[in-house]
Amino acid sequence: MSMMQQPMLISSILEHAIVSHPNAEIVTRTVEGPIHRYTYAEAAKRSKQLANALGDKLGVKQGDRIATLAWNTSRHYELYFGVSGMGAITHTINPRLFPEQIAYIVGHAEDRYLFVDLTFLPLIEALKDKLPSLEGVVVLTDREHMPESDLELLCYEELIADCSETYEWPELDENAGAALCYTSGTTGNPKGVMYTHRSTVLHAMAACQNDALGIDVDSAILPVVPMFHVNAWGTPYAATMMGAKMIFPGAGMDGASIYELVESEKATQLLGVPTIWLGLLNYLDEVGKKLDTVHTVVVGGAAAPLSMVKAFQEKHDAFLLHAWGMTEMSPIGTVNSLTQKMREMPIEERYQHQLKQGRAVFGVEMKIIDDDGKALPHDGEAYGRLLVRGPWIVDEYYKNEDRSSFVDGWFDTGDVATIDSDNTMQIVDRAKDVIKSGGEWISSIELENQAVGHPDLSECCVIGVAHPKWDERPLLLAVRKEGTDPSPDSIREFLEDKVAKWWLPDAVVFVDELPHTATGKLLKIGLRKDYANYLTENGLA
Ligand code: AMP
Repeated sequence: MSMMQQPMLISSILEHAIVSHPNAEIVTRTVEGPIHRYTYAEAAKRSKQLANALGDKLGVKQGDRIATLAWNTSRHYELYFGVSGMGAITHTINPRLFPEQIAYIVGHAEDRYLFVDLTFLPLIEALKDKLPSLEGVVVLTDREHMPESDLELLCYEELIADCSETYEWPELDENAGAALCYTSGTTGNPKGVMYTHRSTVLHAMAACQNDALGIDVDSAILPVVPMFHVNAWGTPYAATMMGAKMIFPGAGMDGASIYELVESEKATQLLGVPTIWLGLLNYLDEVGKKLDTVHTVVVGGAAAPLSMVKAFQEKHDAFLLHAWGMTEMSPIGTVNSLTQKMREMPIEERYQHQLKQGRAVFGVEMKIIDDDGKALPHDGEAYGRLLVRGPWIVDEYYKNEDRSSFVDGWFDTGDVATIDSDNTMQIVDRAKDVIKSGGEWISSIELENQAVGHPDLSECCVIGVAHPKWDERPLLLAVRKEGTDPSPDSIREFLEDKVAKWWLPDAVVFVDELPHTATGKLLKIGLRKDYANYLTENGLA
């Protein structure tokens, strides 16, 4: 072997920060209220105190699963590094899962301890008899804020207070598990994805690239995307690697709270799902404020609508960086970064281009296949199931025999996409959401994103419903903005010059709200059932 074999470990990211940018800041809107700030050097000391406490006081060993149920905060950050660094595994739990699902995944992961924010303690108290693997619950706060509870609780600050600030990180196998995240499956039980040290470090390196998320030493990044789902898109690791300022929003996900942090901390890059940005943009419109310091808003998790691309660019001079990925991919797969070619496009054409999910980052290979498994051309026209492979993509689900998504060394994403000649991918739909009308396909995503551009609508959902002649036809469920009263016909008219005529929804139904999954995506399964016969029952077919 001619080159050194140094394992890629999460602890090495933190050690690099201690040496290279000890004074870079981590700022948190705490769950208790006030803004907290400290440096990477101080965060590292506390991560080491935590690692000591885990080993010495709680008897945690390498490979043990330690659950977290927490917002984006500095204490959660300390857990990311302290737990994984000492060789145990952070199991981040999404508090928006149904309580039975939380009980299921804690049991499935055999979590030994749970670190919980004050906000989420009631969730655990309600489940207390259903979590037999748990040996203790640690509340992420200080003594002063410790709540009354039927449970026997430990206090985080007390747990680490008297522990040494020095700790020798073990030299682990880089392929050992480091962090565990469960998918928020719409059917069946959630499935676990175990990220390794190696996959996490490689993913973070890729995320930082200029052509990916472009995180560097001058960045001040504000991940609104939660640390309880896919590690906040790997940003805690990536920012620590680069010495970027890290701004954690805690429980403040509303437009006003986010804007306040952006302004006071001079955030340069924001990251989150479209619903969060809708909230922020609406707030900024209401109060007539502008984002002055932000140059990039990374949008992923669901497709970014055209109205959002335009609003960020034209009102806030911020580039909407569209990205795609999934739990099974750590999550980054593609990023639509700004190229010279895009700069030269007429602006409307560039906006259209930004709607695509982007080019694969190095490390991610993509192909699209038809129903017979035959590879389709990368011509921007042909669409089929999107398969991926790479060093930060899942190879098997945690303790799960289901191999149905694994095909000859590739992972079937369940998405349907086109890929063009420069490897830019565009999601057409989730395979199960695509509407099959008379043998042709209609993209529910495309229809939703066109419809939500209507000035009176705040959210749209398109589902395929039964039709005696065409098999399925699109039905649009829409939430009206407060104080507006558009007619169904006006919505259809609005769509007429935006989509093919045969794509126009057969009916428009106004609803007060739409159901979402734990990761904020539209939950269509129940709607498909409820509205299955809507067209025939209402004489529309
Ligand atoms: P999750 O594993 O919960 O993060 O969900 C992953 C799924 O979200 C992907 O398979 C896509 O269906 C969807 N998704 C993620 N990013 C995008 C995007 N930029 N545009 C459209 N769909 C997306």
